[in-house]
Amino acid sequence: MPELPEVETTVRGLAPVLEGRILTCVEPKRGDLRWPLPPDLRQRLTGARVVSLGRRAKYGLIGTDRGDTLVFHLGMSGRWRIDPEMLGRHDHFLIETDKGRRLALNDPRRFGSLDLVRTDALATYPPFAGLGPEPLSPAFDAPYLKRALNGRFAPIKAMLLDQRIVAGLGNIYVCEALHQARIAPGRRAGGLSLERLGRLVEAVKTVLVAAIEAGGSTLRDYARPDGELGYFSSQWRVYGREGQPCQCGAVIRRRTEGGRSTFYCPRCQR
Ligand SMILES: [Zn+2]
Repeated sequence: MPELPEVETTVRGLAPVLEGRILTCVEPKRGDLRWPLPPDLRQRLTGARVVSLGRRAKYGLIGTDRGDTLVFHLGMSGRWRIDPEMLGRHDHFLIETDKGRRLALNDPRRFGSLDLVRTDALATYPPFAGLGPEPLSPAFDAPYLKRALNGRFAPIKAMLLDQRIVAGLGNIYVCEALHQARIAPGRRAGGLSLERLGRLVEAVKTVLVAAIEAGGSTLRDYARPDGELGYFSSQWRVYGREGQPCQCGAVIRRRTEGGRSTFYCPRCQR
């Protein structure tokens, strides 16, 4: 499933194709993905100029000079194809620019979404209302996290996955960041010191930036006319490595709660 770094990489990959361009053709191939597409999507986007590309949590944002923002979510299996030579049955939404570039949103499982939101109302768009700060923004720092976790008895891992505390973190990056910060996933969130939270904040940013950079190198591999923008895998330190040795020599463990696995090192993480 695409996580924050994959969405960020996707947005960066779309930027050179879309930035400043006029959308000459906008063509939904079906009326819905996970939810119905806005019925006036084609009309509001055709002829508009793209003025911004961005990301909020795991959503990509394409802003136009008409004050609309196309908000996309890649769901479980979504990806944008750049200048596809042929269209397939899973290419559900097409865009063409005044430079003749083409984009196709491909989503075999259709858990993704497309919506059109007034740009000045993005903050109150329901999926964004109440979201915590972006993990890569300066607002996500140790004093903020200390305040947000104050008095919370829940495990730190659950709190990092809570989108109201910090936006867009998924299971893989939370496992990796807790390992890098040497904090046990089950530790009571409200009891962590400012110093340990500082380490955690740094670890979250480091694992995300590393994944985005890995995605950037993946993108270069895809810099061909039929290139595809999708997600990529990285080398994890604990995620998916149950039974293998940690860098400290101890054996990595896996615990499953509510269908979600936690990977951790019982020695380094306290
Ligand atoms: Zn270890």
